[in-house]
Amino acid sequence: MKRVKVRPASYAVVAILGMVAVWLTPPLEPRQVFPLAPVVVSRPGLEPADFMLRPVVIEASNTELLDTLAISGTIHSSLYNALNESGVGVLPPSARHQLAWSLADIFEYKVDMSRDLKQGDKFHLLIERLQKPNGAIIVQKVLGARLALSGARNPLEAIHFDTPGSSTGQYYDASGMSLRAAFLRAPVAFRRISSIFGARKHPIFGEWRNHTGTDYAAPMGTPVRAIGDGVVIFAGTKGGYGNMIDIRHRNGMVSRYGHMRNFATGMRPGTRVAMGSTIGFVGMTGWATGPHLHFEIRVNGVAHDPKLALQSRGGEPIPSDERGLFQKMKNQTIASLNQAQLASISE
Ligand SMILES: [Zn+2]
Repeated sequence: MKRVKVRPASYAVVAILGMVAVWLTPPLEPRQVFPLAPVVVSRPGLEPADFMLRPVVIEASNTELLDTLAISGTIHSSLYNALNESGVGVLPPSARHQLAWSLADIFEYKVDMSRDLKQGDKFHLLIERLQKPNGAIIVQKVLGARLALSGARNPLEAIHFDTPGSSTGQYYDASGMSLRAAFLRAPVAFRRISSIFGARKHPIFGEWRNHTGTDYAAPMGTPVRAIGDGVVIFAGTKGGYGNMIDIRHRNGMVSRYGHMRNFATGMRPGTRVAMGSTIGFVGMTGWATGPHLHFEIRVNGVAHDPKLALQSRGGEPIPSDERGLFQKMKNQTIASLNQAQLASISE
């Protein structure tokens, strides 16, 4: 059973920001929920009566307040900016920032957040919002996410599900396959770069012509991570690549990382590395006019488009004895995301 209550007063702000915040009760999980009391938020150029919103800051209480809300938005400049706008009035800036990272983490096996996003891409998120007794508001959990990339046939979906023995839970697609795959889609630890989330022009770094890699702008010293488990087969200096590491993965594919300032300790041929582990740091060694990471995927010595080569084939399925429960969670989450999407279209 789902009671969906759309706060019409929100739409004044919604119309201005091009976003929708829909309130959904009860929550998806059997927890007690205390709705936060609405307050009037004042903004320049608007009549206060037009936009009664949920409070960003409310008085401290001796209980935690948990509620569920859906946030929709369209990317105009960057994902971060879109989330920042969509979350105005419902989340404090720090929580909006955090939400951008969370979304990047959820889809890090599917989407390169720094390159794959375009203007007009849409997202719908279902989140648990927690107000702590001291009044601080955080995003407790992202329950579900839908990312509609322009040009993609189907939107990407992520459904949070707690499997027994796992404290944090995992994300699954609608068919019950884990989003966790053998390779990350991007070799840079984006949590270190706040300006990264996509839909912008990529700078040129004066590299050699016809080079077949992907360049990631990042500040000097930004950690570079192995995109998958593997073994280092080269770590040293190589012509225009500067300080370069090659990692061979189980399927024979080699990932290559160039222009690094320096390597992490222990990087030498034969070293085993785990997916996501730091192998070095962004620099501008070799032929580079600015700090960036040059990244390649090579198969049989030939560079391939990482976007295609790293397309994930789906992770582990939900254990069969959990399927019933997952199905329920999924149906609720999808229904809520659909509600959020409908509401945003009606705007
Ligand atoms: Zn390059």
